[in-house]
Amino acid sequence: MDNISFEATLSFAQSLDQQDELARFKDEFHYPQANGKNVIYFCGNSLGLQPRNVEAAVQQELNDWKNLGISGFLKAKNPWMYYQEYFKPALANIVGAKEDEVTVMNSLTVNLHLLMLTFYRPTATRFKIIMEAGAFPSDQYAAETQVIYHGFSPDKSVIELKPREGEKLLRTDDILAGIEEHSNELALVLLGGINYYTGQLFDMKAITAATQKAGAIAAFDLAHAAGNAPLQLHDWNVDFAVWCSYKYLNGGPGAVGGVYVHERYASDPATARLGGWWGNDEEGRFKMEKGFKAKSNASGWNISTAQILNMVSLKASLELFEEAGMENLRAKSVSLTAWLEFLLQQLKNINFEIITPADPEGRGAQLSLYFKEQGRAIHDKMIEKGIIVDYREPGVIRVAPAPMYCSYEDVYRFYEILRDEF
Ligand SMILES: *Cc1c(COP(=O)(O)O)cnc(C)c1O
Repeated sequence: MDNISFEATLSFAQSLDQQDELARFKDEFHYPQANGKNVIYFCGNSLGLQPRNVEAAVQQELNDWKNLGISGFLKAKNPWMYYQEYFKPALANIVGAKEDEVTVMNSLTVNLHLLMLTFYRPTATRFKIIMEAGAFPSDQYAAETQVIYHGFSPDKSVIELKPREGEKLLRTDDILAGIEEHSNELALVLLGGINYYTGQLFDMKAITAATQKAGAIAAFDLAHAAGNAPLQLHDWNVDFAVWCSYKYLNGGPGAVGGVYVHERYASDPATARLGGWWGNDEEGRFKMEKGFKAKSNASGWNISTAQILNMVSLKASLELFEEAGMENLRAKSVSLTAWLEFLLQQLKNINFEIITPADPEGRGAQLSLYFKEQGRAIHDKMIEKGIIVDYREPGVIRVAPAPMYCSYEDVYRFYEILRDEF
């Protein structure tokens, strides 16, 4: 369905919902309440909603712990010993990787640091990190402190790529030119797969190829891309990636983070890393012997005992991703976001700009709307009406209709308020 055939009416929105094969997933979630009814939730890019199957899944682990104690490691319904294994098929699908290339552990920024210990090993001649200007602060802090930790200066080592004067998005050509320009001293390119603020989805394939041609490592923070945008990390030959599980993946606040390491490193136990017993070859784990032998897959970066209670909610949520299918979710997402864009284009009463790329290939679910005036008032009105969106200075409202639980009618209700109340 393209924008041209859309009609800005409620009945049209409802007809789109009737044709939506993923519509039933809306009932698989819990919703905060406002004005006595479910809110409309466009904040899945910050914290996804709770899937209804989470409670029973958590209860299962609590019961197994209660009834089995230590035996739960082998005798729980989902033996805890192998817990991280259960995530591999679903996550491999979501990020476009081999099962041996993904694992879950810790949390996003911690994982970024751990993988930088493997992949960012600056030398006197190769020490630069390329990032996007305005990267998520945690990523900025990680890069800055790693550089300092290795004895280099952030001013000279962290190169920030900025949009051209008067523009809000980074052009792919400019990213590739930046990589080329610094190629002799470049150690690492670390970009968000999707920029959290603008919603821009980067051309990870082209960026990876250019980075590797420059002799550097290509890494992505997929916090806003995992479970949202189509990813083919293995085929794009990405070196490593990290993401959190509480945004589009609906794993719950602070849920366990995800990691991808290309098999050329993951399969090699000699790849440098900091070890712990959970990353050790399983056969030897309980022999309590000297000598770390890394597992020959991404789990070789695991360090500590699996944190069952911090993983179980993601495990439950991923069942819904398996049922819905990432390709179907993306297809709905492209259409739902185009519907949002179409409706916004009908507004004549409000002065605003959509910062996010217009090309569907250049964005995920989110549109970032820059309101030249009244941004705060529009945000507050939405909240008052039970529509959850977030606000970032100066005047940006990020609207992320997650295809798993947002409907075409939800998007219409947002438009209706902008049309009628301002
Ligand atoms: C959400 C987000 C984070 C959060 O990191 P945590 O370690 O999970 O707190 C980091 N980076 C990006 C790009 C994000 O969007």
